[in-house]
Amino acid sequence: MQLENKTILITGATSGIGLSAARLFAQQGAALILGARRQPELNAICESINNAGGRAVSVPGDVGEEEYAKKLVDTAMERFGKLDGSFNNAGILGDLGSITELSTEGWEAVIKTNLTAAFFGAKYQIPALLEQPASSMIFTSSFVGYTTGISGMAAYAASKAGLIGLTQTLAAEYGAQGLRVNALLPGGTETPMGDVVMTTTEIKSYFDGLHSLKRQAMPIEIAQSALYLASDASSFVTGTAHLADGGIS
Ligand code: NDP
Repeated sequence: MQLENKTILITGATSGIGLSAARLFAQQGAALILGARRQPELNAICESINNAGGRAVSVPGDVGEEEYAKKLVDTAMERFGKLDGSFNNAGILGDLGSITELSTEGWEAVIKTNLTAAFFGAKYQIPALLEQPASSMIFTSSFVGYTTGISGMAAYAASKAGLIGLTQTLAAEYGAQGLRVNALLPGGTETPMGDVVMTTTEIKSYFDGLHSLKRQAMPIEIAQSALYLASDASSFVTGTAHLADGGIS
């Protein structure tokens, strides 16, 4: 039980990596505050975790709204009395295509959900996390914008690269108080987000081939890295861009 007695907040828990992490973290003993916009799906996930003997609370909402970031933390304190960790994982790919054709609205939508939401999350989570002697904050970044650039993903890459700068800064600011902050950088992962891009076998082969392992990850493989960063197994790991990308050079 790597997360026994820990209370952890996970966003993007209705699908893909976040859903896999929610199930894994619950199996490892964590009490969970789960977030995403789709309320029926989120409620069903919490119910299945609770029916299996875990502890999960559903807090539906949009990570791009500042009040929602506060509500997630308030719920953790009200229901479980503390917050030990957060996995800030919700994200969107947004509009794909050439930067000259990208609308301002398209750019801002991606920055809001992927990067501004991280600012909101940090602002409200950190005071609660600092009440614990050792705590962990994780932001889901990406191999895109770090190990490689991919045509048509400018806004997404910029938002994910921004998370690495945020991570390094927060790690430096709060390390002395026992808070570890890491960015998790998945490679291509077989989730509904990935499905939006993998529209042909040629595109899928291209993405598979980017990775040394010549395939993309299953969500559980990324969730295992999140578990490592959330648990005491990574007690001397902070400020990292933690790659789980199947090898991209
Ligand atoms: P999915 O599309 O499967 O899941 C995204 C999750 O984020 C959903 O639970 C969705 O829930 C939630 N979400 C999206 N927008 C919002 C919002 N505004 N407010 C609250 N929740 C939101 O994608 P993945 O699991 O693949 O992605 C998870 C993270 O991993 C993302 O940050 C993504 O950028 C990153 N990533 C993914 C890779 C991949 O190849 N799949 C590669 C590298 C990084 P709902 O719709 O209910 O709100």
